[in-house]
Amino acid sequence: MSATTLGIYIHIPFCAKKCDYCDFYSLAGADGARMDDYLAALLRHMRETAALTGKNSSKTGGWSADTLYIGGGTPSLFGAQRVKKLVSAVKSLWNMPKSAEITMEANPDSLDFQSMRKLRKAGVNRLSIGVQATQPGLLASLGRIHTGEQAADCVRGARRAGFENISVDLMYGLPGQTTEMLFESINTVKEWGVTHLSLYGLKIEDGTPLAARNVSLPDEAEQADQYLSCAGLLKSLGFGQYEISNFALPSYQSRHNLKYWTLGSYIGFGAAAHSDFGGNRYGHVRDIDAYIAGVKSGDAVIDEISRISPLERAGEYIMLGLRTARGVSGNEYTRVYKVSFDAIEKKLEKFEKYGLCERTAERWHLTPKGFLVSNRILSELLESKVDGALAP
Ligand code: SF4
Repeated sequence: MSATTLGIYIHIPFCAKKCDYCDFYSLAGADGARMDDYLAALLRHMRETAALTGKNSSKTGGWSADTLYIGGGTPSLFGAQRVKKLVSAVKSLWNMPKSAEITMEANPDSLDFQSMRKLRKAGVNRLSIGVQATQPGLLASLGRIHTGEQAADCVRGARRAGFENISVDLMYGLPGQTTEMLFESINTVKEWGVTHLSLYGLKIEDGTPLAARNVSLPDEAEQADQYLSCAGLLKSLGFGQYEISNFALPSYQSRHNLKYWTLGSYIGFGAAAHSDFGGNRYGHVRDIDAYIAGVKSGDAVIDEISRISPLERAGEYIMLGLRTARGVSGNEYTRVYKVSFDAIEKKLEKFEKYGLCERTAERWHLTPKGFLVSNRILSELLESKVDGALAP
């Protein structure tokens, strides 16, 4: 029996081309030799970490990795053979139950049917596909290189290759996008047979080509209307909202991502990957070459590390828990973090009057309207958290 469970994240920072809005850490261009070096570094780093946490670790008795998430960047560009090696390594180094969720992110322009079959055979059982929109004009305005037809082929092909659990990303608040277009995209991907949908609002990040173009987005009220209308449509299609940006058919919620929002343990590998393990949160260098060199030479690849105090954990419990439809429990909060929930509850009661949150049994959760203004709600609540901690 394993000590406990963790999620493993592997970051693949390669993309065919940078999209016009993206400020994630990834490099444009598919250089096979560099990918091989990166793969070697990932495998070595995993072996070293598994010596302390994996199934042969005498120290811990071995953690069980019940989720693996290969994200990016564009993992489908990394190639099925390399991904297969990563999945095999995780399976051989950590206890991994047969029911483990193994997700890979993909873009429609870099995932063909044969690769999907190989990936499915290797154990990948969930795909998260970057569709963003189904209208060619919107895709072009984002600098995406795939077409709506490629996206349709990709999702339909994934189903034929044996994937039952398929998520797509869509975006709202795009320049020139209307609610009708969003509805069309949602209905289309539903038709393709997806089981999970992530809906993100476009943010213009400094330094991106989109910021330089000075485009005008739908105003705040229109974006709010788009978000709420989409949440309503998804609900009517059977996709329950379980997090601010995430919707799923029953039993298709992302188990890996839920670990982030419920303060589960996870270990990340690769440049710019983050971990929360053993009471520490740490991140790796945001540089592929520095990561490869660091792993090779045995130098630290950790760029930032912080010990999370119980009071900070209490804040995270509120902040992350209220991102989810499951919400937070006052009893749990007080029992685990030994701080009063009273001040937070008082504020939640105030927000309840405006329809921003609801209480079900003894748990509090935000409504879709509350999700929209969650940043404002959370910053008010976090002030109360400090008050609560200081209360006698
Ligand atoms: S594919 Fe994804 S990670 Fe790569 S540039 Fe586009 S948005 Fe960024």
